[in-house]
Amino acid sequence: MTITAFITHRDCWQHDMGSHHPECPDRLGAINDRLIASGLDLYLQFHDAPLAHEDQLLRVHPRGYIERIHSRSPAHGIVHLDPDTAMSPGTLQAALRSAGAGCLATDLVMRGEAHNAFCAIRPPGHHAERAKAMGFCFFNNIAVAARHALEAWGLSRVAIVDFDVHHGNGTEEIFAGDPRVLMAGIFQHPFYPYCGTENPAPNMCNVPLPAGTRGDEFRQVVSDIWLPRLREFQPEMIFISAGFDAHYEDDMASLGLVEADYAWVTTQIKQVAGEFGKGRIVSLLEGGYALSAMARSVVAHIKVLADL
Ligand SMILES: [Zn+2]
Repeated sequence: MTITAFITHRDCWQHDMGSHHPECPDRLGAINDRLIASGLDLYLQFHDAPLAHEDQLLRVHPRGYIERIHSRSPAHGIVHLDPDTAMSPGTLQAALRSAGAGCLATDLVMRGEAHNAFCAIRPPGHHAERAKAMGFCFFNNIAVAARHALEAWGLSRVAIVDFDVHHGNGTEEIFAGDPRVLMAGIFQHPFYPYCGTENPAPNMCNVPLPAGTRGDEFRQVVSDIWLPRLREFQPEMIFISAGFDAHYEDDMASLGLVEADYAWVTTQIKQVAGEFGKGRIVSLLEGGYALSAMARSVVAHIKVLADL
């Protein structure tokens, strides 16, 4: 039986950027509700996300940046770090839990206590650069998790697959030129953060898609470009920046994926992980702002991970 760990924490609900902000605590509520409604909760191994240790963050972010995030944390109200990225009193704890979740997920999978893991966390991470918070992100959760696999567990090749509708510019900035990491990304272009069409290093496999792209074209690109690169790289573990904002129902962007496409791409990734990495997958929630569509897509994604 496949064991899929599900890692989250109540602290992740306490990060609140204001009542009209799309990256809202209700996102996690929608996932919980849908997990229960689908009966999937009975099959998962639940864990509370620990706080990331400073030495885990320091593998990605400079000390001065980590200190700056701590020092900007407000006791009351909201402090903006960029026009759409703000800290409330609960943000720092939530951000530390989100980065810690990926490290715990990596430990569980590397120790063989789970075959794979999904982290239902917020704030997301893939726009956060080494020393810059942006795009709703503070610490780059997936980068912290991938470095944990490389440094703490001694892996020599990990892949990061990013199917969020936005380009993972932070992950790219952190890993461009690091031959131990292959990053495969798909994103709408031109669109926020308005970069990524040029691969800055040979370990980046960026595939921009025009607005209006639907599932069949997405699958073609994954089959033609991602999968051969991943198989050539032979990753010992795969990390997924699992954003669900490319969903047809998500108004933030204009791609047309549906639940079946997320299930399909998860199946493909799982197959590669099975060939080269003992099936090891750690998936971290990134975007996804149409609550129902995002939660249904998360369930479709986890069902494949859990072989259900
Ligand atoms: Zn996104």
